Amino acid sequence: MSNQLISGWGRYPVVDAEIAVPARFENIDLTALNSIARGMGRSYGDSALATQIISTQQLDNLIAFNGQSGELRCAGGTTLEEILKVFVPRGWFLSVTPGTKFVSVGGAIASDVHGKNHHKIGSFCDHVTSIELLIGSGEMVSCSPQQNSDLFRATCGGMGLTGIIVSATIKLLPIQSTTIRQQTLKAANLKEVFQLFEANRSATYSVAWIDCLASGNALGRSLLYLGEHDESGTLDMQSGHSKSIPFDMPTTLLNRFTIQAFNTLYYHKVCETVSQQQVHYEPYFYPLDSIHHWNRLYGRRGFLQYQFVLPKTAGLEGMTKILQRISASKKGSFLAVLKELGAQNKNLLSFPIEGYTLALDFKWEPDLLQLLNELDQIVLEYGGRIYLTKDARMSEATFKQSYPSWEQFMEIRHKYGATEHFNSLQSERLGL
Ligand SMILES: Cc1cc2nc3c(=O)[nH]c(=O)nc-3n(C[C@H](O)[C@H](O)[C@H](O)COP(=O)(O)OP(=O)(O)OC[C@H]3O[C@@H](n4cnc5c(N)ncnc54)[C@H](O)[C@@H]3O)c2cc1C
Repeated sequence: MSNQLISGWGRYPVVDAEIAVPARFENIDLTALNSIARGMGRSYGDSALATQIISTQQLDNLIAFNGQSGELRCAGGTTLEEILKVFVPRGWFLSVTPGTKFVSVGGAIASDVHGKNHHKIGSFCDHVTSIELLIGSGEMVSCSPQQNSDLFRATCGGMGLTGIIVSATIKLLPIQSTTIRQQTLKAANLKEVFQLFEANRSATYSVAWIDCLASGNALGRSLLYLGEHDESGTLDMQSGHSKSIPFDMPTTLLNRFTIQAFNTLYYHKVCETVSQQQVHYEPYFYPLDSIHHWNRLYGRRGFLQYQFVLPKTAGLEGMTKILQRISASKKGSFLAVLKELGAQNKNLLSFPIEGYTLALDFKWEPDLLQLLNELDQIVLEYGGRIYLTKDARMSEATFKQSYPSWEQFMEIRHKYGATEHFNSLQSERLGL
């Protein structure tokens, strides 16, 4: 047990916490009230922050694998990186993966993370067949879509607020090769990129990088990347070298001119309207993982990621309004990521609803919160919501209006004795 200053990936806010790192789940001490589980700390805001933190970093073993069904049982602290390292050479991949492999299985379940294939096969927890959860009483409870399904629906996407995910069984995806057949489509504006998403709904993976500072006729200009697993090739894990940001960058380097220049160069790096590439899965799925500590780019005071989803019907109009507001503010993000999300699942606090989601990074500065509050109002007006795993500042009222199942979630928290044991800075702020 040690005390240290700790934050999420956005480095805002920072809390002085007592951190326990149990080596076995039997050693997890639940006598301290108001603690929260923490995996790899890749959530951006305050969802894995509390004054008492239980780190799962040493609870990371692979337990069993069924080569027929592709079902893998592993401890909650196992990272996606560890799973890929062992299973890719054997011809298996993750059914759903977020944009970094440095997250734990427990964290992926607690945020019910989505990937570039949500429109096709849903989110991470749609491929979880069971969870072993340590609840507030110290008991271990199994839950699945069939068994204690209320607990399962609250734990998937439940931000660690029902208990500690000690182990889980997830379904892997068979692959023949580590190569992705990538197609890059250039869109001159937001309307065009939405049309391209619609026209390419059959693609297994899709994601667009938007120039969030472009305005006028070029508002929302983007590069859309489609991807398919290649059927031929090798299961080679090598993809290139990684780099690291060695120190905090001076925040003066990050201003509207540098960000605008970066976005313009990024957009113009592709000349053809349509082009094809063969790429390794690493740069396709995890482009930022090759730059360790990239969060230092935003300086000592950190940054906030703002990710929201708008329902399809509101997509173009609402997204246009938000991009216009951001472009006018001159605050921008190096890369804004746009994805299509498919149907909503039954998990009570899961983020995805059918529509389009946009994620942007903003360096922390005093007037940022005012801008984000204004964006919240537009998101609410169009029936959307903010992603909890990226959030560090949303108000309780905004949360409760946009996550209508929160009351049912609270009932389940009470039923399983979680309210006095598992709390984070985020849950306190949101009135959970
Ligand atoms: C570069 C980058 C790209 C990303 N891309 C995506 C993306 O494409 N899609 C997406 O959905 N997300 C994305 N994320 C967010 C990330 O996938 C989630 O925040 C994920 O939850 C982080 O996992 P973690 O192990 O780091 O969890 P932490 O950040 O440590 O914790 C996150 C939440 O999970 C809970 N938790 C962690 N472990 C357990 C456990 N064992 N039991 C119970 N609760 C637990 C914590 O209490 C907290 O509420 C991205 C993040 C980064 C940094």
